[in-house]
Amino acid sequence: VREHKDELTALDSAIGDADHGTNLDRGFAAVVQTLQESRTEHEDAGSPLTSAAKTLINTVGGASGVLYGTALLRMGTALAGKTTVGGDELVAALDAAAAGIAARGRSTVGEKTMLDAFVPAVDALRQALAHGATLGAAVEEATLAAEQGAEATVPLVAGKGRAANLGPRSIGHKDPGAASTALLFRALATAISGAAA
Ligand code: ADP
Ligand code: MG
Repeated sequence: VREHKDELTALDSAIGDADHGTNLDRGFAAVVQTLQESRTEHEDAGSPLTSAAKTLINTVGGASGVLYGTALLRMGTALAGKTTVGGDELVAALDAAAAGIAARGRSTVGEKTMLDAFVPAVDALRQALAHGATLGAAVEEATLAAEQGAEATVPLVAGKGRAANLGPRSIGHKDPGAASTALLFRALATAISGAAA
């Protein structure tokens, strides 16, 4: 997110208020710091996610902070008590995350939001695992689907968020939140391939 901060803000300057990159950079920098400080306190896979969620909600002013915060909160609940996470757990947690974004944002796929990257990514993850892919390969498939989903927001009319105020003038621009969702899946893929190596 930090590497692509300016790009996210540029996307948001076209159809929003030019703060998506700075919002998320501030939020995730705080998350990294919180997790480093509390490293030894986390005994299951859920608790760092819950802690990250609260930090995001408290440090990001924009809609994306609440929405990604809700996503991570739902993942934290889904993974509470688990000390190992495989494909099934990851799918369940990301399904809960997507449902959380949709509920909090009162949004659905096709409205030119982060869901247009998130939902295809989770679907691709589920399908790849069902076809016997390794976790690393399946998350790579999910990431490609998120990136394609983000690209596919370009011709859409925004139905939610600030961009919705532009109506048809939002056509022709990639949604910043869909772009950041692709980055988050890319980071997950990198983390998993690093852990497997
Ligand atoms: P703000 O719009 O408050 O300035 P950000 O710029 O950080 O917040 O985030 C904007 C992104 O949030 C959008 O590009 C979109 O992907 C996402 N978003 C906004 N509203 C919704 C919603 N109701 N449902 C899902 N995603 C949304
Ligand atoms: Mg914004």
